[in-house]
Amino acid sequence: MSTAALNAFVFRTSTSTSTDSPGPLNGWDVGVKLNIATSAGPTTCASGTLSNYRSPYAATAVSLLESAGATVAGKTNMDEFGMGSKTIFSIHGPTLNPATAEGDSEPRTAGGSSGGSAAAVAAGQCRVALGSDTGGSVRLPAAWCGVVGFKPTYGRISRHGLVSYGSSLDTVGVLARTVDDIRSAFKVMSAPDVHDMTCMSQQLRDRIDRLVAQSRPPAKDPSRPLSGVRIGLPAEYWVDELSTVTLDAWRSGAARLASLGADIVSVSLPHTKSALPVYYTIALAEASSNLARYDGIRYGQRSDEQPPINTTNASQKYANTRSEGFGDEVQRRILLGTYVMTSAACQHFYTPAQKLRRLIQHDFDAVFALPNAMHPGSSPVKDGVDAILFPTAIGPAPRLHGNNEGSRVEAYVNDVMTVPASLAGLPAVSVPVGTSPDGLPVGLQLAAQYGDDAFLLETASRLA
Ligand code: GLN
Repeated sequence: MSTAALNAFVFRTSTSTSTDSPGPLNGWDVGVKLNIATSAGPTTCASGTLSNYRSPYAATAVSLLESAGATVAGKTNMDEFGMGSKTIFSIHGPTLNPATAEGDSEPRTAGGSSGGSAAAVAAGQCRVALGSDTGGSVRLPAAWCGVVGFKPTYGRISRHGLVSYGSSLDTVGVLARTVDDIRSAFKVMSAPDVHDMTCMSQQLRDRIDRLVAQSRPPAKDPSRPLSGVRIGLPAEYWVDELSTVTLDAWRSGAARLASLGADIVSVSLPHTKSALPVYYTIALAEASSNLARYDGIRYGQRSDEQPPINTTNASQKYANTRSEGFGDEVQRRILLGTYVMTSAACQHFYTPAQKLRRLIQHDFDAVFALPNAMHPGSSPVKDGVDAILFPTAIGPAPRLHGNNEGSRVEAYVNDVMTVPASLAGLPAVSVPVGTSPDGLPVGLQLAAQYGDDAFLLETASRLA
């Protein structure tokens, strides 16, 4: 497939911006998702309402990469405002997966919403790419395109310049062909930022480092680098929908870590079954509020259609602007998000979702050996695990088309494996571990305790 046909980049920068810089990422070209602000090129979020938008400033993550010597190669395609799992809800058209199955006459989806970033990295169009991960948008496309996709702990990388979807869940994530490249890029971007009050302070980073040093002695035997490490396989992720190839990959991934010295144990995360409805309640409630700014006055393309003469309020103008600017999926989600926040529905949906989110977080605290630096009272768990291993998706990339109701629900269901870590703010990484018999990439996910990103990436490098 030609690179243009993939539609991974919707804009390419023509000039190299930082060739002489002596930084650790000198010469690296970086794809940046369309919802992350760059000073060159558009930041459309793949939405009609921002089709002409250019940011007056660059996101902190982008500026840090540039000061380390990297060059922005261009902007990558996505689902509008990050809402989707296939990179099909985009004003720029869908992104295709560079991987195809034997005998395929139809392209496969690249996954979403950071499908452009994943396809660009997989096709060698850039060395690394930035994506955003609210509920799996970096990890799912990484798994389907056969690259590494990392969602850091919430707050590790500044969100300044990342256009908000669900602010309590949004993270800037990284995609690359190797875990080593992810580590180098992450090291540069993981820093406190006065422009984002949810970005971890230096004190919190230091507290986490101390907790990690106390609870995990460094490995001594280089031939068994994971000896003393405990890896949990969460029983609740063993769902009926898992494809055989995914199950096989899960088993062989666990066997590989065991061969390097890790103890593999079963763990239980009992509230996992609530994660998907909780995610779609909280993410959409936050989205309905975040997207209120696209009213044609503060942000967004204003409708030319004039409201009827003598209209005394502006609501018709707003309605025209928002109906024209947003795609169907975004409108559907704004409606749902607004509904769950109404006084009548709040107690039935939003409040229980917040309570369940806390229980999901506690499930993780009950299995990880490392205490959660954010939860006072969280203490080391005896015989707890250091990381958990589970599939990234229920199967390899589906075909691009099949836009019926069923496939919409199926797209939501694919988030089952990725949203729990998002709700708990935990670091998680998807690593390519092989291909299906017909040649499609399969990914496995590792997740660790809040703040334990360095250990997570170290372990992920053993799985790759
Ligand atoms: N697929 C999920 C959604 O549509 C996750 C998206 C994301 O992480 N941005 O909300």
